[in-house]
Amino acid sequence: MRPVQASDALLEIDGLTTHFFTREGTVRAVDGVSLTVPAGKTVCVVGESGCGKSVTARSVLGLVDEPGRVVAGEIWWRRDGQAPVDLARYGPKSEEMRRVRGGEISMVFQEPMASLSPMYTVGAQLVEAIRLHMPLDREQARERAADLLRRVGIPRPEERLDAYSFQLSGGMCQRVMIAIALAAGPALLIADEPTTALDVTTQARIIDLIHELQAETGMSVLFITHDLGVVAEIADEVVVMYLGTVVERGGVDEIFHDPKHPYTRALLGSIPRMGAGTGQRLATIRGNVPHPSDRPSGCPFHPRCGDAVAGLCDRSDPPDVRVGPGRTARCVLHENADLIGDDGQLGAEEVQR
Ligand code: SF4
Repeated sequence: MRPVQASDALLEIDGLTTHFFTREGTVRAVDGVSLTVPAGKTVCVVGESGCGKSVTARSVLGLVDEPGRVVAGEIWWRRDGQAPVDLARYGPKSEEMRRVRGGEISMVFQEPMASLSPMYTVGAQLVEAIRLHMPLDREQARERAADLLRRVGIPRPEERLDAYSFQLSGGMCQRVMIAIALAAGPALLIADEPTTALDVTTQARIIDLIHELQAETGMSVLFITHDLGVVAEIADEVVVMYLGTVVERGGVDEIFHDPKHPYTRALLGSIPRMGAGTGQRLATIRGNVPHPSDRPSGCPFHPRCGDAVAGLCDRSDPPDVRVGPGRTARCVLHENADLIGDDGQLGAEEVQR
C-alpha cells in the first residue's frame, strides 16, 4: 500500500480496477483509474458511453452491481483534517460505508424518476434521508426538508412535501434528488449524468443549481458526463476516460484550448461551436467504443485514432506521461515524439525493437 501524502485532495483514487465476472468472461470495466478531487472544486469525468465513467463513480461508494467488484486500487477519502480512510477496504454494506454514503459523500443519478419511490411522498423520503444522518425528530426533519426543497428552487415547498414523484416533472424530481443528496451536508457530491434524461432548459437549470449550491456550501463535485458543453460550464478540472482508463487529465482551460490526447481532440471536434456556419458538418469520431471484453491490443483507442502510428500504437499500451503541471496524457505521441517520422510512421529500426 502506498503511504498517504499530505494533500488538498478530498478524494484520491489510485489505480482503481473494477471488473465484472460474467459467464462469458471477465469484463475490465475500470482498468487502473487514478484521479483526484480537490476540496471545493468540480472535477468532470468525460467520455463516450461505455468508457467506465459511471462504474468509476459507483465504485467510490460501493454501489457496483453484481457481478461487478472492485478488485484493486485505493480510494482515499479525507474529511475535515481527519485521518484518510481507504473506501476500497470498506465492504459495500458495512456500517462504515453506510456512514460515508449519504452522510459525507452523496450521489445523484441519471434517472430521477427511477431513484424516487412512487410509494412514498417526496417529503417522507427526504425526512428519512435527513434522520438517517442527523439527530432530529420528525418535525424538525420536516422543517429541514422544506428548507432543502426551497434551496433547490422548488416553489411552495411545504405543499410539495406531500406530493408523490409521479405528480412532479422530471426536472422537479431531479431537484428533489439533489435535495435528498444535500440532506446531510455532504463534503462531496457525485453527480452521474444528472441532466441527461431532462430537456435542455431543465438541464441548464439543474447545472446552475449545482453550481450555486457548490458556491454556497463549498462542497466538491465529481460530475460524470458525456456532454462537453456541460464540462465547459462547470469544471475546474477534467478527466477524459476511454475504455476504462484515464487518457488525459488537466485544468478545464488547458483541456479545451490545448488538448494533448487524440481522443480529447476528437471529442472536442464533435461539439457544435458558436459562430460555425449552419452548413458546416460536425466531425464525428469514427467507429464506436468497443466492448471492454473486446479490448484492442496496444493503445485501446488505436482502431479509431487518426494519429495512430503503425507498428507502435497497435503493439503497446502507452503509460501516463506528464505533459505539464498537473496534466497527464496517455499517448505515445507524447512519450515517443522523437521516434515518429514526418509521414506519421515509426522509423523501421524502431518497429523491429
Ligand atoms: Fe492515437 Fe497512438 Fe496516441 Fe493511441 S497512442 S491515442 S493510437 S497516437
